[in-house]
Amino acid sequence: MPQTGIVRDNRYMDHVADGYHPESQERLETLYGMVEEPGMQGKYVEIQPRMATQEELESIHVPAYIKLVASTAGRRMTMLDPDTYACSKSYETAKLAAGGTLAAVDKVIQGEIDNAFAFIRPPGHHAEANRAMGFCLFNNVAIAASYALKDRNVRKALIVDWDLHHGNGTQHSFYERADVLYFSTHQYPYYPGTGFFSETGSGPGKGFTVNVPLVAGPGDEEYARIFEEILEPIALEFKPGIIFVSAGFDIYFRDPLGGMKVTPRGFANLARIILDIAEKTCKGKVVFVLEGGYHLEGLRDSAREVLKTMSGEILAGGRDEEMGKGADPGLIDSVRKKVKEAQRPFWKNL
Ligand SMILES: [Zn+2]
Repeated sequence: MPQTGIVRDNRYMDHVADGYHPESQERLETLYGMVEEPGMQGKYVEIQPRMATQEELESIHVPAYIKLVASTAGRRMTMLDPDTYACSKSYETAKLAAGGTLAAVDKVIQGEIDNAFAFIRPPGHHAEANRAMGFCLFNNVAIAASYALKDRNVRKALIVDWDLHHGNGTQHSFYERADVLYFSTHQYPYYPGTGFFSETGSGPGKGFTVNVPLVAGPGDEEYARIFEEILEPIALEFKPGIIFVSAGFDIYFRDPLGGMKVTPRGFANLARIILDIAEKTCKGKVVFVLEGGYHLEGLRDSAREVLKTMSGEILAGGRDEEMGKGADPGLIDSVRKKVKEAQRPFWKNL
């Protein structure tokens, strides 16, 4: 059975909004409660997080922006963009979020564990080189991918972003690079507005950004088909040395911010597909990193199924073969055609 690590730390609750905010510390309270349930307790290797260093943050963010976030430390409340707050401890919490992801990368690369899930916040995929956006301060996954390549001698990284929203910050971080493949499914048109089919990368990075924008409505069946028919052939041709998942649970069917219909079983199946790709290309090395997900029970139930899949407790024999058969054929045809038009020059398996 694979060994699965988890990153959790109560200091991730120190990033606190004034009044109601969907990206609240309750999200982690719920997830940390889930890993303490009788059926879950003691099954996962605890990974101690650390602070990301200035140099690690600078691999993705410009010094002036890091300085701006640092300047919020000790101040009661600063709004960095209309949706994104920083309280007195947010700078420290954000450095610990990026660093927790790096700690997970180290354990996976050293082979101490097979895969890991970093239950951290604030999330990261909207954070740009020079600004905070969409609840995100530092781009945890981008910093981790950069670290794996630069400091841990991994040749290529694949980032799979299944969050409801497009990860504009992650896409832009590697838009001109051929050693990081960014794949995203997301509701479109929707926040943040980026992520159309035609955004495929630039210069040497052409073809290494794959966007699958979707109108509201797809669920387990459609996501399974998109992952099998678009992500999988491209990923097998790319041959990553490590895979990151920007795991947003806001595609859950009852999420208050989204219009997608994925169930806990659907998340497990998507995780299985990604793990299969990892087993074929990089000895199973996958680091899942929490992004969005605002329905607390949905977050808990979906993350539980993903963890069980990662550790081989469920779907160990393979993916859910029935899932995908009930997909809306019109939607799958249309998406496949548009992705092929944009990506065909770059991927012969497609
Ligand atoms: Zn999201």
